Amino acid sequence: MTSSPSDYVVGFLEGNLGLASGSLRHEVIPRDLADELTSVLQGAPSRDPSSPSIELRIKQFLAELEITALEEAGFFVRKSRWPNAAQLGVCLTHDVDNIERPMEHILKVKDRFSKADLAKAMKGELSLYDNLELIGKREGAEGFRSSFYLLSSNYRLGKVRPAARRLHSRGWEIGLHGDFGTHDSDMEMKKAVERLTGGVGIRPRGLREHYLRFDFRKSWSVMDGAGFDYDTTVGNNDKLGFKLGLATPFHPPDAGWRPLNLLELPLSLMDTTLWGYLKKGEEEGLADVMRLMAMVEEVEGLFTLLWHQEAVRMKGGRVYWLEVGEWRQHDYPWRARTEGFDAYPQNEAGDEGQGQVGVGQQEDRRRKS
Ligand SMILES: [Zn+2]
Repeated sequence: MTSSPSDYVVGFLEGNLGLASGSLRHEVIPRDLADELTSVLQGAPSRDPSSPSIELRIKQFLAELEITALEEAGFFVRKSRWPNAAQLGVCLTHDVDNIERPMEHILKVKDRFSKADLAKAMKGELSLYDNLELIGKREGAEGFRSSFYLLSSNYRLGKVRPAARRLHSRGWEIGLHGDFGTHDSDMEMKKAVERLTGGVGIRPRGLREHYLRFDFRKSWSVMDGAGFDYDTTVGNNDKLGFKLGLATPFHPPDAGWRPLNLLELPLSLMDTTLWGYLKKGEEEGLADVMRLMAMVEEVEGLFTLLWHQEAVRMKGGRVYWLEVGEWRQHDYPWRARTEGFDAYPQNEAGDEGQGQVGVGQQEDRRRKS
């Protein structure tokens, strides 16, 4: 059982690099890497938040380990992070902040929508802000599955229940979008989990906090204590980049530097950062998504994207469909679904017995053809 920052760092790096437990010696770990890792996990900014800087440093460390091992033993083995040794995992997530807005609001912002959608909405044939089914249909057609995080107290859960249950039964995940107060209160978290579980009949296994609210001293332990398998809150609101300098899942430490059962999937990018905070044009926003994804690919990481479901019919938000098209074209070999990350790093029991080691579930389009 680990109990010191340096023990934690050893375990973190073994997990990150796919090395056998107990194979890494304390003394070979560069001091600067250990210090930065422990300080970002306590909330300090990373040295270079514009890039996955700690992952890059770990990659450099890996190269050093390989050289030493080849000199000393003549071989070096590590588990690859993703099935088929893919360079990248892509994890698609949608916060469900709203599913409807009053007509006065819609009229005020009508230029955001296409004329056809607006006309249908005026006739009551379409709900512009409830796109769960639309996303499910279009992602499914391209072989993707994603996760939806529902607020438990902002709208009547009965209204999303049928769509949530249909999606869930077809392989999409329904998680919790943590309501106000849940990020630092065991009691509020428990209440939110109970509301969601009762309201949609699905117990959430993963979550993201509303407004990415996060307290490094409390939130992970609250989430772990509530029985979640994973969180994907830790990321930036107001700028692009990597808040922790990390881009791969890891088990955060508790107050005594023991790894929690909870897994953190660092958030790579949020849609509203592009349009709301940075006022980007659509073309520029799309380029940013691809640029950050390439940075994650460079470190063999997990690109975790937050795209609000209410935005996919709007200017800006509709860029999501272009992204889906780009991913299809590149035919990324491995697509993550957040549920199932309890098997990370990949293990044999992973992937529905299809003979591939893996976390989560994947749907490989090439297998169909
Ligand atoms: Zn939210």
